[in-house]
Amino acid sequence: MTNPVQDRSSGPAHALQLRSVRYAYPGATAPTLDLEALSLPCGERLMLRGPSGCGKSTLLSLAAGVLLAQDGSVELMGRAWAPMSAAQRDAHRVDHVGYIFQQFNLLPYLGVLDNVLLPCRLSKHRRLQATSLHGSIEAAGAALLDALELPAAVHRRPASELSVGQQQRVAAARALIGQPDVVIADEPTSALDEDRREAFMRLLLQAHGRAGSALLFVTHDARLAHHFDRVVDLPSINRATQAPQAR
Ligand code: ADP
Repeated sequence: MTNPVQDRSSGPAHALQLRSVRYAYPGATAPTLDLEALSLPCGERLMLRGPSGCGKSTLLSLAAGVLLAQDGSVELMGRAWAPMSAAQRDAHRVDHVGYIFQQFNLLPYLGVLDNVLLPCRLSKHRRLQATSLHGSIEAAGAALLDALELPAAVHRRPASELSVGQQQRVAAARALIGQPDVVIADEPTSALDEDRREAFMRLLLQAHGRAGSALLFVTHDARLAHHFDRVVDLPSINRATQAPQAR
């Protein structure tokens, strides 16, 4: 996939690489995740599926450097999270990751466009990427909102005044602005009905294709599989799930 803005050919081949990763929550007697390997090549769209409680959100938190594995390594764009300071992790995350949360996590009293522009305010890298294509971050945000079918009339409205489906598209625009290398989405369609789910997927993937990012998309909904290059069933690679029960 070619990208009009960013030449990603000189960067690492993998947006995300997990090797021999083991993670247990503090105080837990058994690990939640125990993975030999999982890689996300740059530009790939990967769907990660599995039932509730199998560790999908935990894996996303490890991928985004929000949680740190006790064993093994997690690298995002060729850099391991573990050796970084908390401030370095925050900077690396906002430079390279767009995150779509299950509950959107918009700032309710901030306007729609201002919500979308947040990553550009926090990251010079994202700001430059957005500006290089559109001239200004405001124009870049407006173009994304237009592409996600949010008309100019709502760009200045507080995010809390939008419908659930509209808020989810604002969350997608915020994740995509400034062409992050990886977009991580945690069950972003779970609050949408079937028609809105398909429409959201179509718009998300169109906008995502233009950004050229890798996509790590978590869902328990097998009906979405046709949208992706690859589907990974988390329980089948998570040795923590496969471990025999203690007798
Ligand atoms: P999924 O996203 O697939 O529903 P999660 O990653 O949220 O699964 O949870 C996996 C397991 O880890 C569950 O058994 C859950 O109870 C446990 N877990 C999740 N978050 C925490 C936490 N903050 N502290 C302790 N255990 C947790």
